[in-house]
Amino acid sequence: MANTKKRCRHCKEFVLAESGVTVLLGFFCNRDHALEHQHTKAMAAVSKMRAKAIQLAKKDIKDRKQAIKSLGELHKEAQPEFNKYIRLRDRGQPCISCQKHTDRQMHAGHFFSVGSTPELRYTERNVHLQCSICNNHLSGNQLRYRANLIKKIGLEAVEELEGPHDPAKYNRDDIMAIKAKYKLKNKELKAQQGLL
Ligand SMILES: [Zn+2]
Ligand SMILES: [Zn+2]
Repeated sequence: MANTKKRCRHCKEFVLAESGVTVLLGFFCNRDHALEHQHTKAMAAVSKMRAKAIQLAKKDIKDRKQAIKSLGELHKEAQPEFNKYIRLRDRGQPCISCQKHTDRQMHAGHFFSVGSTPELRYTERNVHLQCSICNNHLSGNQLRYRANLIKKIGLEAVEELEGPHDPAKYNRDDIMAIKAKYKLKNKELKAQQGLL
């Protein structure tokens, strides 16, 4: 046993067991290495705690920011997520209005606009892939939109969209839930379509 060598946990060197020291943290070639090792460990623990505290503070700020957002601001986050879903759902299809395939950026075009009919702003049947010309310049190309929408979802469903609706009443939780729902759906659709 006299010549047994042990490895110092700090410098990783093998030294004679009797020449080193054994403390709570293990074996070290000398007391300095034991102290240095202890110090390094303590510093690592401190920076880990500091990182955790920063992370918590950031989350807290995020939560507070979320809590003071207006409904309009929340809609501004949820609507793009919903619209993205429509573009993914209808990917490869022609414009709902002019029936053209185009290389242009396609939009999610509301049949009943968000402004006129907010209660249908997140209704999937009310929103379809539309080219930017029809969407931006032809005010939705509404007559052709309706004709093709009937072909796509049926007259009954179109008349249901045109029929009376309960007024829109979204609270904060509703809007945040819509955003979360479509974020998830988009992830799934992207994966299905091999876009991830
Ligand atoms: Zn050492
Ligand atoms: Zn079009």
